[in-house]
Amino acid sequence: MLNKQLKPFILILSGPSGAGKTTLSNAVISTIPDTTTAVSHTTRPPRLGETEGKDYYYVDKASFLALRDKGEMLEYAEVYGNFYGTSQNSVAALLELGKNVILDIDWQGARKMKSHYPNAISVYILPPDEEESKNRLIARQQDSAEIISSRMSAYKEQESHQQEYDHTIVNDKLSDAIDQLLKILNYG
Ligand code: ADP
Ligand code: 5GP
Repeated sequence: MLNKQLKPFILILSGPSGAGKTTLSNAVISTIPDTTTAVSHTTRPPRLGETEGKDYYYVDKASFLALRDKGEMLEYAEVYGNFYGTSQNSVAALLELGKNVILDIDWQGARKMKSHYPNAISVYILPPDEEESKNRLIARQQDSAEIISSRMSAYKEQESHQQEYDHTIVNDKLSDAIDQLLKILNYG
């Protein structure tokens, strides 16, 4: 059973591209009732199969910076050459409804969100190794070779922040990683 003290929870997931954050987030959403992701804004173009308002709010740079300048972003960062940010509304509306909220954000955003929500649980997701991360990005078939190589060149830098997190999970066998994450959330 879910420990009532953890509900509603804010779960922050970070980690290198291809580590499995989206997959693990979806697993938590389908297991723990009333759990959802806060939809971020981004200036990167949608990937094949991504949906406006579900995966991200896709905006151009000027609109993103205007939102930021109006103070609507709880946090934002430039990641892999694009802006990404969590709006105040995207989190507050969910918390008001009593939802558990998952944030898939980078280490800069995680730091900031921890300062806003000190009880948030932060989990760093790692692939078994760098090569596997690359293989997963290739197998996902959503990014060009150029984008994959730019993400891989940031791998070491991303990885170097894992000690800032409450927990680290190596996502090797998916079912084990899901079990570990549910355990951290006191579920199951
Ligand atoms: P991220 O959101 O961290 O960039 P994804 O969740 O999109 O990563 O995962 C990248 C790819 O790897 C996806 O195609 C996903 O299905 C696959 N994947 C995720 N976890 C595992 C795993 N434990 N073993 C093998 N493939 C995985
Ligand atoms: P992707 O383009 O693969 O969806 O995301 C790239 C990176 O941006 C990932 O590390 C992801 O966690 C991060 N990211 C996504 N949304 C946000 C956000 O709102 N804020 C911050 N700081 N990072 C984000």
